Amino acid sequence: MQPFAFKLKHTDGAARLGELRTPHGLVETPAFMPVGTQGAVKALRHEDVERLGAQIILGNTYHLFLRPGDELIARRGGLHKFIGWDRPILTDSGGYQVFSLAARRVIKEDGARFQSHLDGSPRMLTPEAAVDIQARLGSDIAMVLDECLAYPATRDAAAESMHRSIRWARRSRDQLIRLRTSSAGAIVTNTGQAQFGIVQGGVFKDLRGESADATVALEFEGYAIGGLSVGEPIDMMYSVVGDTARRLPDDRPRYLMGTGTPGDLVECVARGIDMFDCVLPTRNARNGQLFTSEGRLNIKNARYAEDDRPLDERCSCYTCLHHSRAYLRHLYMAGEMTAGTLNTLHNLSYYLDTMKRIREAILFNAFEKFRLEFQRTADRLSLES
Ligand SMILES: [Zn+2]
Repeated sequence: MQPFAFKLKHTDGAARLGELRTPHGLVETPAFMPVGTQGAVKALRHEDVERLGAQIILGNTYHLFLRPGDELIARRGGLHKFIGWDRPILTDSGGYQVFSLAARRVIKEDGARFQSHLDGSPRMLTPEAAVDIQARLGSDIAMVLDECLAYPATRDAAAESMHRSIRWARRSRDQLIRLRTSSAGAIVTNTGQAQFGIVQGGVFKDLRGESADATVALEFEGYAIGGLSVGEPIDMMYSVVGDTARRLPDDRPRYLMGTGTPGDLVECVARGIDMFDCVLPTRNARNGQLFTSEGRLNIKNARYAEDDRPLDERCSCYTCLHHSRAYLRHLYMAGEMTAGTLNTLHNLSYYLDTMKRIREAILFNAFEKFRLEFQRTADRLSLES
């Protein structure tokens, strides 16, 4: 099995062009990972996701752990085999959903005790359990369990939470090394699985710096920046991303979790980020909000009732090649399932195409020019309501 590796191929300013090698193939970076929460990118078939140019998808450990269960998936040979996707997969630790979805959660040093949002059953997620569950799932990249802090938080609360996340990261790394070196314990369905650490510390730069140094000392295969895009002002987020990315080693991939708009992707690539995931393109598509090269549009709007143009004249996705705004509005208003599919195809195409253009711009040392043009045209118009 091809072990995990990252190769930095070219830089243009702080922007980086690279390549992830995983047991299930290559991922060109900067990369956007469509979110496949429960083993499927909502409204799409894997074939569609692959054709759009996605080289990696994200699966949510919390959801798969509760239903159908990581042990059932391990008995099917792991997540890739179970869902029929043979390209790379990254799984999160489940922590974010425990903090935001589960009922009656109690966080202690040992881990998080919570009630399933499905049936109220009592569950426990510890740093070690999050490693074991992801080993059974067999994703190509596993994330450590970290504590997700709400914004705004005081400096003391952010410091305490960040220190706990470092202790949990150490336990997570120890557990993975135990799994790699002994045959006892959890089933491992992907022996080439990599593990990423997560830098926390809220919006406090000194705490982010301390967290980055302590996490890097644990020698993960890659590093994520967590706890952003939670309501802080956008300039503050960009500033924390830039400062944190600079503290991370050049030879490891950097993943900004849960971000963001197309404009955020461009701005964070400019600050040295290699990987992104976000529910925006897929969730907004299902709500009729479309991203285009001219800004965002809301297909519910009455002005599109007799608009025969495609969503985006510059887009060559299936939806834009075959259908008009008028038809897409009709499908949406009529509550047709096809509306979700066609809208998701377009939004994901827009995101993945943007990432492709970013990679080309870096390769030709033209990223700054691309960034300025992007700021001028896309994502500048306010959201249509
Ligand atoms: Zn399109």
